Amino acid sequence: MTVRTRIAPSPTGDPHLGTAYIALFNLCFAHAKGGEFVLRIEDTDQLRSTYESEQKILQSLQWLGLEWDEGPDVGGDYGPYRQSERMPIYRTHAMELVAKGHAFYCFATPEELDEMRREQMARGETPKYDGRGLLLTDEEVQARLDAGEPYVIRMKVPERGTCTFSDMLRGEVQIPWSQIDMQVLLKADGMPTYHLANVVDDHLMKISHVIRGEEWLNSAPKHQLLYQYFGWEMPELCHMPLLRNPDKSKLSKRKNPTSINYYRDMGYLPEAVLNYLGRMGWSMPNEEEKFSFREMLDNFDISHVHLGGPVFDTEKLDWLNGRWIREELDEHAFADRVTDWALNRDHLLQMIPLVKERVEKFTDLAPMLSFLLSGLPTLDNSSFENSRVDNETVRKILQFSAWRLDETAAWERDVLYRELDQIAGAMEMKLKDFLFPLFVAIAGSSSAPPLFDSMVILGPDMSRARVRHALNAAGGASKKLLKKWDREYQSICASRDA
Ligand code: GLU
Repeated sequence: MTVRTRIAPSPTGDPHLGTAYIALFNLCFAHAKGGEFVLRIEDTDQLRSTYESEQKILQSLQWLGLEWDEGPDVGGDYGPYRQSERMPIYRTHAMELVAKGHAFYCFATPEELDEMRREQMARGETPKYDGRGLLLTDEEVQARLDAGEPYVIRMKVPERGTCTFSDMLRGEVQIPWSQIDMQVLLKADGMPTYHLANVVDDHLMKISHVIRGEEWLNSAPKHQLLYQYFGWEMPELCHMPLLRNPDKSKLSKRKNPTSINYYRDMGYLPEAVLNYLGRMGWSMPNEEEKFSFREMLDNFDISHVHLGGPVFDTEKLDWLNGRWIREELDEHAFADRVTDWALNRDHLLQMIPLVKERVEKFTDLAPMLSFLLSGLPTLDNSSFENSRVDNETVRKILQFSAWRLDETAAWERDVLYRELDQIAGAMEMKLKDFLFPLFVAIAGSSSAPPLFDSMVILGPDMSRARVRHALNAAGGASKKLLKKWDREYQSICASRDA
C-alpha cells in the first residue's frame, strides 16, 4: 500500500498556523514512508469560501517550503482537488446511502427543528435531532419529493452502544453513540456537509492516513460509520494535539497572531517558523531544538508526538529565529533575505508618496518610516491618554475595528475608509475621534502619515495584529464585555447591510 496523506483546508480566512502545522506533520509522515502528500481544498461552504483565501493558503505554505505532490495547482491522478468541482460525486454517494437504507430524507423546516430543540431543552435534555424523518413511510417521502418540498439527507446513527475506533496516538477511543447526532450529509441547497465530502474524497483519493487536528476527534464516529455504510476501508486516524496560547487556551488570534503571513511580514525566516512548528509536540531524537526541515524528515517518527498541548510562544520563536539568522545567514544571505522581506525598491515606491511632501532631507526618512518597518509598537494604557473618549470606548473602537478588518478582504484605501467610517457613523462619533486609537495602534502615535495608506502598506496581517495588540495594551475585553459588544456590533453591521 502506498502511504498517502493530505491536508484539507477550508479557504475561509487567513492562512492559519494550524494548517501549516498539520501540513508539516502530514508531509513528514508521508515522506518518511516513501509516500505521497495531497492538498485538497474543502470549499463546500460557498458563503465563506473565497478563491483569494485559497491562493493565500497555497502561497503561505509554499513560503514555508512545504510542497505537495497533488493539489488544485499541480493536478494529479485523483482530481479535481477542489470540492466545489466535485459536487455531482457527493450527491451520487448520498443517494447510494439512501438506497441502501443507511440515510434518509428529512423535510423538517428550520423552524420545526428550533421548536424541537426548545422542547428538548425545556425537558432538561441535550438538544439533538429526534429521528422524525425516519418515521415517514416511503409513500409519504415520495409524495413530499413530488410536491417539491425542500429536504436534507441525514445519516442513520445507532441509538445505543459505543463507537470504538483506533487513533495512532491515543490507541482505542470510545465515544457513546448517544452523543452522536444523525448528521446531515446533503444540505437543502444540495451541497454536501464536511463529513460526507471529506469521507468520500479521502476514499476516492486513496488517502491511507488521516492526520488532522484534535478538534475533529468527535467526528470520527460519523466517519467510521460512513466508511462502513459504503463498504470501504477506513484510513488510519491520527489526531494531533491542538496548538495553544501560553495561557494554555486554544491558539486564537485574540491572544496570538495566527496568520502565517503575519510571521512572514514580521521578518521571521520560514525555516525558523517551520522548525518551531516541528517542535510542537515533537522533538528530535537528540533533543536539539534547532533543526532543518530535512533533518526533521530524516528523523521523523509520528509515535514520538506527545499529546500534552504544545504552546506556541512567540518569545521562544524569536529566540529560535535569532539563532537561525545568526547561525545560518552569512552577510550576503542576510542582505538577500532582508531585501526580499522589505528593504527593496518596490516597497520604497509604496512608502515614498506618504512622506514625500514632508521630507526635507533623506535623513528624515528613517524616523518617518520606521513604523512601517517595525513589528508591534510598544504601547500601554497611557498611549491612549490623549484620546477624547474614555478607555472603554477606546477599547470598543479597537474591538469593532478588529472585527471589521477581519471581514475586509479587499485591502484597499477607499474600502478601509468606508468600512471604518461606517462604524464611526453608527457609533455617532466624529471620524477624527474614532480614528485616534487606530492611529496609535497602527503607527504608535497620532502624528503619523495617513492612516489608510499606512494600513495598505503594512498589509492586512500586520495591521490586524497591531489593532489587536493595541486592544490588549488598552486593557483588553472580558468575555462578558465581548458578548455585549458583539450584539452592538451585529446591529451596526445590520445597519450597513440594510
Ligand atoms: N476542512 C477541514 C478543515 O478545515 C478538514 C479537516 C480534516 O482534516 O478532516 O480543517
